[in-house]
Amino acid sequence: MPKLLPGPLGISENPPEVTVLLSGSAMNIAPDAVVSIHYTLTNDAGETLDSSVGGDALAYLHGRGNLIPGLERELAGKQAGDKLNVKIAPADGYGEYDKSLIQRVPRRSLRGIKNVHVGMQLQANTEQGPRTVTVTHVVGDMVTIDGNHPLAGQSLNFDIEITDVRAATEEEIAHGHVHGPGGHHHG
Ligand code: ZN
Repeated sequence: MPKLLPGPLGISENPPEVTVLLSGSAMNIAPDAVVSIHYTLTNDAGETLDSSVGGDALAYLHGRGNLIPGLERELAGKQAGDKLNVKIAPADGYGEYDKSLIQRVPRRSLRGIKNVHVGMQLQANTEQGPRTVTVTHVVGDMVTIDGNHPLAGQSLNFDIEITDVRAATEEEIAHGHVHGPGGHHHG
């Protein structure tokens, strides 16, 4: 217990301990933190869908919708060095699978697009703005396109190691993305 000196100010003899956060020391993930992670994404069948391991860590600006919502929620409050193994439900990932986003169109409606084939991704203009669609069937003159994200309807299993957490610069906050290694490079 610090002993108080007599007098109206009540000044403490021993100043309270102050924790100084040195740069590079543990910082919790919060909005506008720049977070670097290594990740491996697998589906429920155990197949690896994506991984940063062996390459550069992914750097992202936290709290700006740069990652799927479920992942940002799991990462909030964590620190560099933390490892996570999380399962994200479709609704918190790339959305539930929506059958209404499947459309059959005549091939001639895809004017100017050559070699239409299954797996091809096209940019479609919709009432909600541009959307990436995937060609899923080509039968005769009819082409089936699917506006769902390729990972819609899937549970996503992430194995994550947080490698760095730092404060974003004002410029990064203004741009809404990370600059430098693992982030955005302006030409
Ligand atoms: Zn920028």
